[in-house]
Amino acid sequence: MAKVGGLADVVGALPKYQNEAGLDAAVVLPYYNRKFVQESEFDVVFRASNLLGKKRYEFEIWKERTNKLGFELFLIYIPGLLDRPEVYSYPDEREQFIAFQLAFLDWINWSQQTPDIIHCHDHHVGLIPFLLQHSALYKRLAQTATVFTIHNGQYHGAFGYDKFDYLPEVDMTYAGLLDWNGGINPLACAIKCVAKYTTVSPSYLEELSLNSNGLEYLFCTERAKGQGIVNGIDTEVWNPVTDSMIAGPIDPLKPNAGKLKNKQALCERFGLSADLPLIAFIGRLVVEKGADLLPEAFTQSLQEHAGQVNILMLGAGEKDTEAALTILNEQFPENYKTYIGYNEELAHLIYAGSDFLLMPSRVEPCGLNQLYALRYGTVPIVRRTGGLIDTVIDFGDEGGYGICFDQSNVNDITYSISRAITLYKNSEHLELLRKRMMALDFSWTQSAKQYNQLYESLKPLI
Ligand code: ADP
Repeated sequence: MAKVGGLADVVGALPKYQNEAGLDAAVVLPYYNRKFVQESEFDVVFRASNLLGKKRYEFEIWKERTNKLGFELFLIYIPGLLDRPEVYSYPDEREQFIAFQLAFLDWINWSQQTPDIIHCHDHHVGLIPFLLQHSALYKRLAQTATVFTIHNGQYHGAFGYDKFDYLPEVDMTYAGLLDWNGGINPLACAIKCVAKYTTVSPSYLEELSLNSNGLEYLFCTERAKGQGIVNGIDTEVWNPVTDSMIAGPIDPLKPNAGKLKNKQALCERFGLSADLPLIAFIGRLVVEKGADLLPEAFTQSLQEHAGQVNILMLGAGEKDTEAALTILNEQFPENYKTYIGYNEELAHLIYAGSDFLLMPSRVEPCGLNQLYALRYGTVPIVRRTGGLIDTVIDFGDEGGYGICFDQSNVNDITYSISRAITLYKNSEHLELLRKRMMALDFSWTQSAKQYNQLYESLKPLI
């Protein structure tokens, strides 16, 4: 409905699996004026108005009629604020997120609902645990347990005290909980106030104490409330046997034929030869993902292994990186292609049809791309960071199936590409690795169980 990255994958899948496990999980999102909303049917179940500072705004709660996503979906519609097509990047996004949080709390409060758990995701809803506990308005809900999941600890959603009057009346004794470094910091506030927080992998939990854009000290002191749970993947959407977005099924027990069919379709689409090893990158073109290193690394590898390897790039993001990657199309017309943009269907085909998927991330809280790659028999080439440490074992180690490297730099990337090209020449070994990785279980069933146990552990608070 409104996918930008991994957060959407989680919020779109976890509740479905929680419901299958017997919970009653619903999702509340801002209204986005996008395809899914235009094509779905909704009932307005609540209507009210509220204040954002001195400005009054109207809001409505829309409920999707059919539960077609596997859970009840509620949207908060606020004309003028939450009725736009893009998910992020509006200059008034602080106002958007605060109005969203207040409308959510008012709706729950005024409609006399009493959820056992409110599970918040990332800084956009980081003020909810604080407001529940320290605003007299929501006294009825003060005992509601909150869980907070960090998908990306680099973004805090911080803003200045000039916007303090956007908040409803709060108990000033506790106003310090809002603060970090002289500003209101929703991520820090959530970590301080929440009963439990989770990160999307155990290694990322440890890394936040070392690298979280200024919150390192907080993560050290609040470590005991944290738990790392690796994201699952939606195995119904990402199923190499039934996926309608790929060129043909890939049998996990005999993957080579299916892989080849998809590779041929993919290569044909981009005018590449299907005989060479195909290395792909999918993702946001940002420094966090190591995308700035790609133009130089690809240039060096394509020169060093001239005519021996193909590289395909799908992504969008920083304009300089987009431009530098696009130029390579002309420099290496036979062996390199860039597709700038977001294309879900193409992503599926790339996971299915590539031999290798490169992830040179500087920061990777969990990373889903490597999980999709593994499920489709594509060897992940990853930098050892965050969730990539927890999910990929180098093929040189016992039971391994991936290619791992330590530093986010051009040398480590080009060296890993060389290893990939050598591995590709040993087709029996490659087939063994494909079978091994396709047998791995990264389903939500496992991860949802861990979230459910965490909820259970909060029961005394309920
Ligand atoms: P992040 O949330 O940091 O962007 P994740 O690895 O957790 O990274 O999730 C990325 C998700 O977004 C994956 O499902 C990936 O396939 C998808 N994705 C990223 N960029 C694109 C793109 N340009 N086109 C299609 N899908 C993309």
